[in-house]
Amino acid sequence: MNDPLQSKEARSRYPLVENQVQAQIMALVHVEARPISRGQLVGALDSSRTKISTEVGRLIELGLLAEDGFAESDGGRRSSLLSIPRSAGLIAAIDFGATSIDVALTTLGSEIVAHKGEPADIKDGPQTILARAKTLLSELLEEQVAEPSDVISIGVGVPGPVHQAAGVLRSPPIMPGWDRFPIRSAFAGEYAAPVFVDNDVNVMALGEHWGGVGRGVDNLLVIKVGTGIGGGIITDGRLYRGTQGCAGDIGHICVDPSGPVCTCGNLGCLEAMAAAPSIALEAERRAREGASSALAAMLEERGELTAEAVGEAAGLGDYEALSVIRGSGRLIGRVLATLVSVLNPSLIVIGGGVSRSGHVFLAEIRSAVYQRSLPLATRNLPIVLSELENDAGIVGASVLAAQSVLHVSSHEVPIARTGQGGAGT
Ligand SMILES: [Zn+2]
Repeated sequence: MNDPLQSKEARSRYPLVENQVQAQIMALVHVEARPISRGQLVGALDSSRTKISTEVGRLIELGLLAEDGFAESDGGRRSSLLSIPRSAGLIAAIDFGATSIDVALTTLGSEIVAHKGEPADIKDGPQTILARAKTLLSELLEEQVAEPSDVISIGVGVPGPVHQAAGVLRSPPIMPGWDRFPIRSAFAGEYAAPVFVDNDVNVMALGEHWGGVGRGVDNLLVIKVGTGIGGGIITDGRLYRGTQGCAGDIGHICVDPSGPVCTCGNLGCLEAMAAAPSIALEAERRAREGASSALAAMLEERGELTAEAVGEAAGLGDYEALSVIRGSGRLIGRVLATLVSVLNPSLIVIGGGVSRSGHVFLAEIRSAVYQRSLPLATRNLPIVLSELENDAGIVGASVLAAQSVLHVSSHEVPIARTGQGGAGT
């Protein structure tokens, strides 16, 4: 099997670092997202000044770090700052939504260099959708006068459950034809860079944690409400994927055993009752029943209602539209209250298309969570909208790709075997 992660070319470039201290230095510079001094590295890492200085020298030789100006003088000698130079290589960040493709080139430091997006239907299948993504990527490279060989890592977010080790989707409900499709191989040949695939909401959580409103928050829940509903969990500053990679897949939690049939085949899943298609369907029903003249007029004019249109009508104060959006927010809030009890996060970020349906959606989620969680768990629990919005996916895909190539695998560093307080020891 031609797995690009295993190919000779890719293996020679991945990981990009040579040892655990280099990995720690790069992780810190990547997280800081601005130039950092050697002194800051020494303060943050558990290694000697000499060791860090040696490894920084080596990272500069490898082209992964570069001197970048000087720190503010505190009276003594001004120390030079370090950052990840653009010449370290480019990351291809790809975010597949149910109805969109976004492709970006970023630096290894996850700064967006160029970005292209277009509507797409994920149901068109992997061949068509991946070909489109590759075309967009080629166009971006051409515009930046760059070559496929300048790409050192590829991060891909997909709207379905991903088997982490294999990098493939497993029985994705809304993605016919994608089950076990070798996404990584689609880039082989043209690109020598390794390809890292994860669920779109995990990717979004990485983006929010790295550069969004969740920056610096160690225990964070990120919820995406769009065509589907999913959750990404950051605990102790790291993405929690669970055993198979599907932790946080909250869309298929049952909220009504006698509810409508979900795309997964079960009855009354959260997704089937609160995501964009169900908002549209419920609004259409009310429009047809004559409950709302505003929704009926929209339906008449446009032929169908979308969640976006319902948000529009809600913004104009339509009672039925508001009530449909409130209903969705309430169900999501109830499931979140359960998650709050299990995980005790310090921030919840809500993103995805439906999150833009107006303040009433967020207000309803908040009130359901605060009503149903223990006071201690919600005493200081902000529930806020994503600030990165559409960029959360590509920023997160870039963070996934950067972290993955700058990480020394546990095969090389048996952290779990040192007996230093690992899980269960
Ligand atoms: Zn379901």
